[in-house]
Amino acid sequence: MPAAIRFVLGLCVLALATTVVRAEPVPVPTGLPKYQVDLEIAGNIVTFRETVTWTNLSKRPTDTVQINFYPNFQIPKGDYLLLAKTLELLRLNPEYGIDVKGRHGKIKRVNMGSPEGDLLAYHYSQSNPTTLILELPKTVAAGESVTLFMEGTICLANKQGRWGHWQGITYVSNALPVVAFYDDDGWHDTQFIPWHQPFWNEAGVYNATLTLAKDQVLACSAAVKTELDLGDGRKRYTMQPFVGRDFAVVCSALYKEFRSTVKLPDGREVTLKCVAYAKHEFYAREILQIVADALPVYSAWFGPFPYDQFTIAESFFGWNGNELGGMILIDERVFDMPHLARGYVEYLVSHETCHQWWYNQVGTNGYSETFMDEGAATYFTHRLLNQKRGKNNPLLNWPDGLDWLPNIYRDTYRNASLHGAIRRNDAPPAAGDLPEFGHLINLFSGAYDRGSKVFGMIESRLGAEFLPFIKQLVRKYSFRVLSAKQFKAELTAFVGKDSAGNWDEFFGRWVYGRGLTDWRVDSVRMIDQGPRHRGSDPMSAGSGVRVEVIVSQDREFDEPTELGFRFVGDVGYQVRVPIGPMNQPQQMVEGNCEIEPAGPKKLRVRVTLPARPTQITVDPDQILVDANPGNNFWKIQPKISVVPLYTLLNDTDLTADYDRWNLTAGPWVWGASYQDPWYTRSTMLGLRAGAYRTQTFSGGVYSAFRTDYRDLIVGVDGLIDHWPLPKTQVGFNYEYRLAGPFFGNRGEDTQHRATVFGRYVFQYISSLYLAPMNYIDAYSTYQDNFLPFAETATPGSIRPAEQWLTGLHYRLNLYTPYWDPDRGVWVDVSAVGGTANLGPQVETYQGRGEFAIVRKLPEGHGYLSKIRAAGRILTQGAFPDNGLFFTLGGSTQFRGFDLAERQGSFLWIANAELRMPIIRDSQRNFLDSTVGLRNVNVAAFYDVGNIYANGQSVGGAAHALGLGLRVDIAIFSFIERATLRFDAAKTVNAASPIQFWFGIQNAF
Ligand SMILES: [Zn+2]
Repeated sequence: MPAAIRFVLGLCVLALATTVVRAEPVPVPTGLPKYQVDLEIAGNIVTFRETVTWTNLSKRPTDTVQINFYPNFQIPKGDYLLLAKTLELLRLNPEYGIDVKGRHGKIKRVNMGSPEGDLLAYHYSQSNPTTLILELPKTVAAGESVTLFMEGTICLANKQGRWGHWQGITYVSNALPVVAFYDDDGWHDTQFIPWHQPFWNEAGVYNATLTLAKDQVLACSAAVKTELDLGDGRKRYTMQPFVGRDFAVVCSALYKEFRSTVKLPDGREVTLKCVAYAKHEFYAREILQIVADALPVYSAWFGPFPYDQFTIAESFFGWNGNELGGMILIDERVFDMPHLARGYVEYLVSHETCHQWWYNQVGTNGYSETFMDEGAATYFTHRLLNQKRGKNNPLLNWPDGLDWLPNIYRDTYRNASLHGAIRRNDAPPAAGDLPEFGHLINLFSGAYDRGSKVFGMIESRLGAEFLPFIKQLVRKYSFRVLSAKQFKAELTAFVGKDSAGNWDEFFGRWVYGRGLTDWRVDSVRMIDQGPRHRGSDPMSAGSGVRVEVIVSQDREFDEPTELGFRFVGDVGYQVRVPIGPMNQPQQMVEGNCEIEPAGPKKLRVRVTLPARPTQITVDPDQILVDANPGNNFWKIQPKISVVPLYTLLNDTDLTADYDRWNLTAGPWVWGASYQDPWYTRSTMLGLRAGAYRTQTFSGGVYSAFRTDYRDLIVGVDGLIDHWPLPKTQVGFNYEYRLAGPFFGNRGEDTQHRATVFGRYVFQYISSLYLAPMNYIDAYSTYQDNFLPFAETATPGSIRPAEQWLTGLHYRLNLYTPYWDPDRGVWVDVSAVGGTANLGPQVETYQGRGEFAIVRKLPEGHGYLSKIRAAGRILTQGAFPDNGLFFTLGGSTQFRGFDLAERQGSFLWIANAELRMPIIRDSQRNFLDSTVGLRNVNVAAFYDVGNIYANGQSVGGAAHALGLGLRVDIAIFSFIERATLRFDAAKTVNAASPIQFWFGIQNAF
């Protein structure tokens, strides 16, 4: 532990070297696999002829060579839902990205040495269908080489992803055969995991020719050496030799090429190219600038950028950015983002660019140690942006006058999802095989978020030695593969042999472990006020303010950190005291500082400060994986906003500060985005004061006009999340009518309703506005009768004045994608009991069951195959049967009646709906692309239902026909998706008027 207080004066600004350092070539190890690739893209068929020379660099002889050939992938049975939910998380319609057929790669032949050599036997591995095993006629001993020739084709499906074609862009990445990783333990072929980068291979030396149609604009890992017109509508490029982790080709006749250059610290000039649709010129130019800003800084940190050119290509793959050797792909939806979201694009492109060192130059085992490149890229990107934009800059740049709109701050973007995983008790280790993470959310929390903290904690331990360490590490492992074990050994060698135990513990905790730390400032006491201004000798003992701070650590790991002190007018923390686990009291001369144990996992720090502190924070730079960063402060400072418009968007994990209370007040617009079993809250306009704490609490008080009941109310609501168990929630709502109903809405003079519920979540959903995918509620509700008076009276039936019900509710929502499903089921059942006022108070028992299904019509029938059919049955019953508990009509029930038309105690409804696309994959955007139109469906539906009161049908079975529009919109390109619904329905066998409905999401 360092024995001194670090007095950091002002913000450290890392100055870039202004003197030009002579270019040192990037080291390329000898013995890398050598590939000669001749590739032709004709329509959707890629033909490749590839000669590979592989050298056995290990001590172990082998008589096989294993090749990763990913286009032979086919989605395993049972994985469809996982993949569909992954694409749903990315807000991509799963059918655009999931290729059920698969197996698009064909190897035609393999020869020894050259195309003329002996034919070689080969087969796919039994356990891994993307591993091609070539059987060699003789053993390749240590240091020996073997040359093999492979010829084959890849059929490009009309799917988004790594290989395929979509809207005029053709992409062939991670598709060519590459030699698997080989070491003293033998071959390490890795399973292809389509939802991340499972790649683990040596870099290769590529020489290539590419034959394309003449109209294609090319983007490639390698630079073009010569171009030849073949005279038959084709052209052939001969590429410069290229050393990289992979070799990718992307092309399109619709690309426009944008260019710029950037000078690196070594004086070299690098040509930057961005190929994109012409309409995306804004972000094409911005991205060139972002890359030009990043390359010199990364080059200063990690060593020179290896190439003279670098290419960014617009493509379609559903996730936002994808690193490749010498090139990055950025998803079309990023190019299509609002211009005001440049801050996000800057973050993304800086991250992908960083992978040129962490993935491409320094290779990793992407299957088991994703954090080695994703953790590094995430950490260094934030480091770059801290330097470039300042800490915690907002990612959205709202126009003047609209800057009160919710923003996304970079720290929140970085930490909120990890914080959610911690609150769910789901936070995984940084390292682990991809399938162990289960899905992308966990991988983000573990490999990216926790993984990036690993790099931050290493920097904190090494201090100024960190970048020199990293730079020599990149140089040593340049175009090799760096494992986590080697990384640890390099740290030990750098710091000294004695540190081995420390690094073992560090990797055990933060790389392979899932434990946390939770430092907290317990109390602060001013022992001696001292002078209230800084003296001429502010650091001398005795002349300052003597402060005692008690800090404690409540979780698994007592990770060393700092206690920071801030003074009037400062932004950062000028005085820092190192703290950590200790058994003996420690004394430091500077600041006359004493640190001593003050009980189990508690420390007492006494220090003399130059002035009275305004804030005291443990782990002030938020370097640690802290279970509750909100208790690290002495003075809790909530974020208080009074806004001209308060909506759902103010209270989300992305827009609220993740480490403090967010208090918001203002004019309020709110609508329920899903139904609750007790009652569904109305769309409301009014005033609200709310409190939000990420993954902890959301609630507020309000006064509003309820559009359903046309009355004026006051209310209070709240949701305590992850309490008392990690996967439970407790919520409540109470509403009281102040005035109304107005506008001739006829209802009883009712006033109250209230609900308390406890929920167990089996499966969360990625949507920002829907209820979880799979959960059970226990609830109790009191409500006066807010239904309008029934139009059709049944003799002997009674309208309950109020009810008090307690029961259970279960929901399973497997609609995929949730905003406009083409498949899936929906189950919703509840059973409650309680009392109802039917004149006398009587016992009542009530049940409700709903089952719905959506299917796409079978493939192969052209337009018809794009139509989706949805069906639902719903039944609801209550005892005693003379109570008018339910209504047949409503926007999500029998759409031919309003709520007043028919009421009773038992009902059944069946709905059938055809959703027929009339606009598909529209690119129309509005309001600077904050809202985009994507698909429009016409819905034709038939609803049938009957309701019974007192044992008699009220008016017989009713039949309604209707038409509707379903408008699928994208919000902020890929942030959220939703369907807006307009329905008109007429009951054909009753004299009721046509009903019009408007809602979010489908009716069922
Ligand atoms: Zn990445």
